[in-house]
Amino acid sequence: MNPRVRIACLAADAARWGTTQLLHRGGGNAPGAVALRLDPGIIGSLGDALERSVVVTGTNGKTTTTGLAADALGARGERVVCNRAGNNMESGIAAALVEARRERPRVGCFECDELYTVRVLPRLRPRALVLLNLFRDQLDRYGEIDHTQDVIAEALRRSPETAIAFNADDPLCAAIASRVDNPGVPFGIDEPTDLEADRISDSRFCAQCNAPLDYAYVHYGQLGKYRCPSCGWERPELAFAAVNVSLTCGGYEFDVEDRRGEKVVRHHVTTRYSGLYMVYNVMAALVACILGGGSVEHFQEVLDAYEPASGRGKTYALDGGYAVVSNLAKNPTGFNRMIQQVRAADGRYVALFLNDNDADGHDVSWIWDIDLERLRDLSDLRCVCVGGTRREDMAVRVKYAELGCPIELIEGVEDALRFVGAGEKLHVIANYTAFPPVVAELERLAGSWAAPVSQAATSVSWVERAEPDEVALDRPLRIVHLYPDALNLYGDGGNIASLSKRCAWRGIPCRVDQVLMGQELDLSDADIVLLGGGADRDQLAVCHELQGQREKLAAYVADGGVLLAICGGYQLLGHYYMMGEERVEGLHVLDVETTAGSTRLIGNVAVESAVCGQPIVGFENHAGRTLLGAGEKPLGRALVGGTGNNGEDGGEGVLHDGVVGTYLHGPILPKNPGVTDWLIGRALRRRGVDLELAPLPDDLEQLAHDVALKIATHR
Ligand code: GLN
Repeated sequence: MNPRVRIACLAADAARWGTTQLLHRGGGNAPGAVALRLDPGIIGSLGDALERSVVVTGTNGKTTTTGLAADALGARGERVVCNRAGNNMESGIAAALVEARRERPRVGCFECDELYTVRVLPRLRPRALVLLNLFRDQLDRYGEIDHTQDVIAEALRRSPETAIAFNADDPLCAAIASRVDNPGVPFGIDEPTDLEADRISDSRFCAQCNAPLDYAYVHYGQLGKYRCPSCGWERPELAFAAVNVSLTCGGYEFDVEDRRGEKVVRHHVTTRYSGLYMVYNVMAALVACILGGGSVEHFQEVLDAYEPASGRGKTYALDGGYAVVSNLAKNPTGFNRMIQQVRAADGRYVALFLNDNDADGHDVSWIWDIDLERLRDLSDLRCVCVGGTRREDMAVRVKYAELGCPIELIEGVEDALRFVGAGEKLHVIANYTAFPPVVAELERLAGSWAAPVSQAATSVSWVERAEPDEVALDRPLRIVHLYPDALNLYGDGGNIASLSKRCAWRGIPCRVDQVLMGQELDLSDADIVLLGGGADRDQLAVCHELQGQREKLAAYVADGGVLLAICGGYQLLGHYYMMGEERVEGLHVLDVETTAGSTRLIGNVAVESAVCGQPIVGFENHAGRTLLGAGEKPLGRALVGGTGNNGEDGGEGVLHDGVVGTYLHGPILPKNPGVTDWLIGRALRRRGVDLELAPLPDDLEQLAHDVALKIATHR
């Protein structure tokens, strides 16, 4: 070992001793950070001593897959170094290597954050990178998914010998594999699984030609068997395929076919897990083990013995027959999987914890992309509790799902248990930083909690809504949601929910029509139109779609039509959006122009606007800088510096007759009901209906608004 490496290791040892012994904290990252400071190449130096290694990345399932793969690789007594606790940045991997060095491990198995692959792969040069999936997640950190794809592709280019074992069912992963020369090992589920498709998909368009993809079947999210009808790009032939997938009462069972050789080799796998996502994780771990040079002889034993990391999916039995199931979900796709589990168990009590700390992402818009409405299927849902730093936002989300049960704001699990019936089960779903405190509390409660003697607390914060009298209209208000299949990046469905529910709660008849890509656009009797936000690629697809239809939209706007255009949708209404050299032709409906900057404007925003009596609050995340022409007026003035249209002139959005354009994305309306009501009021007046909008009980909306305002103006 050269002196520099040795010093870096000793300093890291000291840092570990300091953080664990003196500060009583986990020594996951700090020692690695110290080692990297002294020797930036330490991952390479210590990694070179390994005979072979694999790295696992992707949005969901990294920790589980890595832990399982490490166990499988070590099944025959091989010493494996692994960052098991989930510290998956460069420092976490360096720390694991430093800590394990004296045991002289020969095999490495590491979980790596998507954006850190580009720092880790070139140094470690693993045998394989296992790419599990890519879903929208922490977009305020990752930017748009395209950026994550670019980073992973670059990492692979800088480690050309590394094979990429990728989830071929995910077009976003397959697109990366098609861009690099590294050997590819596609895996996937090679038969329909008949699950209900999620509302949101993160990839609807062909990575090669941008045409909408056709699916023979979808498992969930964008995962399935796809093909581009225009250029023929399709799911690659699978090298490893899960087949005969069946769900028994114990969990999923399936065969993994290794189709690489002349003869297909079959591995039968039985799991204790009932989520289909675990089929992917288990298959990926098996593939990692094979590519990492392990033997799969003991794979089933390893799987049977595997304990998921710290409390994930665990059931805690409490005094009095009560039980609490703890689940982690960090993004819409993960959350939807957990909702599926609550449905399968016909749950009656649910607690959702939402934090917005650095590791969670500060933007909580994604909760509007969760298919929470599916909890309506439960036969007897009694109560939904919401906790965490952004519980008010979650409360509003639950309210708009109209689950027909009380919503309680709570501090922790013990607080939630007050609302749970005697001896019943509570299903907890918590996001990243909200999860460890939940587990810690449950560990404590499992030994000390005493079941209450009296009845469960009854809610004071919920009242059954009275049926309003129907407002007489010659025809319902027609809300048109344009291209939700393309422009839906940050929970745009929340805006539709706010518009339609606030009409319904006042007895104003309304209907929502979606216009999907490729469908005829008819705005003749539209009253409110919504254009959502989108990633650059999606915007480009919509721009092509809309070019022939410009006149319809222009005529609608000229006629005073009400239109809410968010981020990408807002940019499309102008003359152009320049993404580097590429010009996305705008619709020229508004006199505004947008040019992408080299950085993104990301963060909580508050805007003072004439549209609404209190500041409009929300979150922005865009590369585009928009300049308004002389005749256009901004929607308002950004109260937070460096935000808004361009970060320079303090203006945010545009207000042009009935058009509201804004960078406050996704669910701007639920937290700003004043803006919703402005849009509804204006649409009614355009129809000649002069109706005073009855006030609604907006307590939860107001709470969520105030929390967001405080964060925007204080952080
Ligand atoms: N892709 C556009 C940008 O980055 C719009 C993003 C959005 O809709 N938030 O500027």
